[in-house]
Order: sequence, then structure tokens, then C-alpha cells
Amino acid sequence: MLTAGRAPRNGEAELKVENLRIAFQKDGGEVLAVRGVDFDLKRGETLALVGESGCGKTVTALSILRLLAEPPAKVLSGRIGLGGVDLLELPAEGIRKVRGREIAMIFQDPMTSLNPVLSIGDQIMETLRRHTTLGRAEVRERALDLLRRVEIPSPEEKLRQFPHQLSGGMRQRVMIAIALSCEPRVLIADEPTTALDVLVQAQIMDLLKQLKRETGLSILLITHDLGIVTDIADRALVMYAGRIVESGPVGPLFKSPLHPYTRGLLNSVPQIGQRPKAGRLQEIPGQVPRPGELPAGCAFHPRCPDAMDRCRTESPVLEEKFEGRHASCWLEQETA
Ligand code: SF4
Repeated sequence: MLTAGRAPRNGEAELKVENLRIAFQKDGGEVLAVRGVDFDLKRGETLALVGESGCGKTVTALSILRLLAEPPAKVLSGRIGLGGVDLLELPAEGIRKVRGREIAMIFQDPMTSLNPVLSIGDQIMETLRRHTTLGRAEVRERALDLLRRVEIPSPEEKLRQFPHQLSGGMRQRVMIAIALSCEPRVLIADEPTTALDVLVQAQIMDLLKQLKRETGLSILLITHDLGIVTDIADRALVMYAGRIVESGPVGPLFKSPLHPYTRGLLNSVPQIGQRPKAGRLQEIPGQVPRPGELPAGCAFHPRCPDAMDRCRTESPVLEEKFEGRHASCWLEQETA
């Protein structure tokens, strides 16, 4: 059983990803989409994995629960440690038990995860029946409790309703209720608010913060929206072209980013809590390179305003620049 042994205390690693490399089959060969990613998620922590679309964030997240279709995907190397077990080594039955019970996941569009022909109640109770030994009446009571916990009004009525009868925000609350139904240790939230309007986004993020406080849940938040990161995350990992290019506590990282890509991302969103001033926001020029089409040297160099000759030929590695803060960039060395 995965939970055997001492559960990690607050601040200790709940989930540890080491040297994860993932390729996809393309044109008869393989292209690398995740190129050696390392991070840990501490107990009770919210860790944000940020970057533009196509940087490898979702591929990394899906690989943790082994939800990538293999083929075309293939994990070339790495270890994903949870409670002393490498999830990549678990047999199919073992990983099925981990999903939902140890690690749960919510996605951008709850409609794609909810079954349109089953009532909300049936979907929550089905998860509970699969993962617990609760009796019929207890399962129903627990489903109602979960709906109350995610602040869904009229829970008795909602149990009988179908997904299309609920708003986007309510559907996401139902997904969170299902995700929490078996009291997982880790929640992976992949762009959980992208499909929602701003007010509902804030409500869902508040709900996640509250649930984290109440349960000690560790959250891996995948997002391209830096606006929500400062509000909820303790640390952030910035991902570009399949690699982590900067990591650190959210406050210092946002206040004084070390990597030009992080700076570009921050310049392209309104300052947190301020209205955007006309002309202040700047898009990062160019596109994220596709896997298999990476430039030589630093993968960011064609888009980087600070690129130097060295950047076009040599790839920097992620290294500690200050205590707890890492970045992969030649800039500091060259200017020192
Ligand atoms: Fe820019 Fe060079 Fe740093 Fe890459 S290594 S981010 S190109 S300055």
C-alpha cells in the first residue's frame, strides 16, 4: 500500500519528479517534449508550473498519473516518487489505485471530464464506491457532504441534476468535489479556471485555498495565467521548451525574475492588483518552438532580448543563483 510508512510532514516532499524525459513519435522518429525535468512538491504546498502553451506543462502533469497515451508518448527516463514508490514502475492496477485515492486531477474544461448522461450524484457516488467500502446510505451522505464542502447550493437538488444543467463554475466545483472524494494527498489542477469568467475564477481559487488550509492538501497548479499564481502559489516553476528555466518562491520570483523568459511572461500580464496601463503590456515576440524544432544553444535565444553570441551555441543549465532560487541563463555570468 502506497501510504505505508510515515506521511511527510509539512515542508517535506510529497511528490518528487526526477530527470523526467518524455518523447513523442513523429515522422518515424522521436522528438523530446519534456527534456529532463526535476522538482518536488512539498506537503501542504501549492506549486505553480507556468509557461505558455506548448512548453510541456500538461505533458509533465499527465505523465505523473500515467495518463499519456503510449504510444505516441514514451517516457524515456525519470522517476516520479510518491510515498517511496516510483509511479512509473507501478503496474496498471497499482496506478489505477493511485489515481483519485492518492493523487487527483482536475482539468480546464469540466465538461470533458464529466459524463453528460450521468447525474452529478451518480458520478460522485461512483467514485466513492470504486475507492471506498462505504455502504449505500453512507456514500450518498458523503456525496452531499462533498457538495456542501465545495459550497454548491441546494446539494440535494444538484445530486439529481446533469452536467448541462450547471454553470461552468458549478461544474468545476463538482469536479473538485469528485477529486477530493477520496481525500487525496495531491491535487493536480491543470488550468482549472481558464474556461471561467474572472469572478468565477477568483471564487474557484478561493475555494482551492480554503480546501488546502483545511486538509493539508498539496497542489500542483498548471497554468499560463500568472495573475492567479501570486494569489495561491508558494513557489513557481517556469517552464520553456520542455525544461524548467527558473524556479523559486513566488514573491521574489515575481518581484525580480532572473530569467528573461520569466520577465517576458510578467511583462505580458497586467500587474497584479493594478489596471493595465495602455501600451505597458508587451507580448513576447515569436513562438514557443515545437518539440523537435529547437534552436541550438539556449532554446529561448531567438525570442530573448538579451541574447548573446554564446546563447546561440551553448545551452545553459539550471543552477542555484541565490538561496532557493534557480535559473538557467548565461546572462549573469557574462555580465559579472
Ligand atoms: Fe537569453 Fe542567453 Fe539567457 Fe537564453 S541564456 S535566456 S538567450 S540571455
